[in-house]
Amino acid sequence: PRVRLNSLFKNGYSSKVEYKPIRSVLVANRGEIAIRVFRACTELGIKSVAVYSEQDKMHMHRQKADESYMVGKGLPPVEAYLNIPEVIRVCKENDVDAVHPGYGFLSERSDFAQAVIDAGLRFIGPSPEVVQKMGDKVAARVAAIEAGVPIVPGTDGPVTSKEEALEFCKKHGLPVIFKAAYGGGGRGMRVVRKMEDVEESFQRASSEAKAAFGNGAMFIEKFIERPRHIEVQLLGDKAGNVVHLYERDCSVQRRHQKVVEIAPAPRLPTEIRDKMTEAAVRLACHVGYENAGTVEFLCDESGNFYFIEVNARLQVEHTVTEEITGIDLVQSQIRIAEGMTLPELGYTQDNIVPRGYAIQCRVTTEDPANDFQPNTGRLEVFRSGEGMGIRLDSASAYAGAIISPYYDSLLVKVISHASDLQSSASKMNRALREFRIRGVKTNIPFLLNVLENQKFLHGVLDTYFIDEHPQLFK
Ligand code: ADP
Repeated sequence: PRVRLNSLFKNGYSSKVEYKPIRSVLVANRGEIAIRVFRACTELGIKSVAVYSEQDKMHMHRQKADESYMVGKGLPPVEAYLNIPEVIRVCKENDVDAVHPGYGFLSERSDFAQAVIDAGLRFIGPSPEVVQKMGDKVAARVAAIEAGVPIVPGTDGPVTSKEEALEFCKKHGLPVIFKAAYGGGGRGMRVVRKMEDVEESFQRASSEAKAAFGNGAMFIEKFIERPRHIEVQLLGDKAGNVVHLYERDCSVQRRHQKVVEIAPAPRLPTEIRDKMTEAAVRLACHVGYENAGTVEFLCDESGNFYFIEVNARLQVEHTVTEEITGIDLVQSQIRIAEGMTLPELGYTQDNIVPRGYAIQCRVTTEDPANDFQPNTGRLEVFRSGEGMGIRLDSASAYAGAIISPYYDSLLVKVISHASDLQSSASKMNRALREFRIRGVKTNIPFLLNVLENQKFLHGVLDTYFIDEHPQLFK
């Protein structure tokens, strides 16, 4: 479907921004996303700089940058990438003038964005104030209300006692979902359907949150039944212009974590699409959003949608949006950080037209036959699926690579693009079948089951999809 929207620019197209080219970018990240950003830099004639942990000494992302420097010597694997002073020091010593945070690690830390700016460097992302506001669930919800964007009814702030939890549930009714106030990544959530379970579930969820995130405070929201997770990709510039790049459907989730993503959302009525994209742009304009970001919504069966959160960074699934719009989001991020405006980049809302359907499968080194436990070791054999309409974004996917237990288990992102959902799924299916991987188990058998499911092929999706189809695990 070719959908066109009227542009929602704040005060018409504005372009009074100082342009200052970026010559060198450090990526404060690892793995496939670091390489994704290096590639964009190289294409733009910009020097790329990697940082790597001691554990990642042999990792591919280090090889793919023009220069690389070790950080966090002696620190545990994840902490190495969270060491702000060291990242800044590497920048200063090596003539770096901008930092890209990727996703995860420091990407949503406003103190990091601020430290980068204080060091006289440019942060390729939103302003520290916006990163801070969007990372604070309460502040983000307030911003949504102010911008006239519907939100899920929920507590006004973190809840720490079972009495408060019970009070909310009595007032708003069940079901509700408990979420760790300081959690994320789909972890630390629990759905409660019976009043007599509220107190005990709260206690349990809260102590789990305390164990996992160091804080037992919870948010409580009304649980939306059979929601679709639909998110809108945005780009904003320094002049206050904002465009959307349509939406992605990320309803295919396992334990609230995304597994397969599709752009655009299949079977989404144009009227709802228009309302959602407009709401997302309104919110971005309201908070002065700059650079790439995503507004996430849950959509119920009657077509109502509710804001859940803003991801003030590039997302794992940005690739499917790139495929349907032909816009390189990472290059756009860099250009915006340099001071280019959206009209200068040629991005007016009318110029952004989605074509066909793109699907992304996250191929992970997890064993579906063993409850998706991460599998590690040496990749003895690795041959990938290729061909027309297939894109691969990976880091450690090659014969001889050591899959370590230190970081997440994403091996390769496989992205297909074709004129319609079924052809896209069929390209993906064919490509996944071409893979030959020995030495480490992957979730490919599970992904193939998803791709052959009739509901999936017809785009009949909600977040219950995986749980309701036990045959996917066979
Ligand atoms: P995180 O920040 O941990 O990723 P989100 O708030 O983005 O958490 O939610 C992740 C997923 O959890 C959603 O995509 C959805 O499947 C489910 N979820 C979250 N809030 C609700 C809700 N109020 N009702 C139903 N499902 C929800």
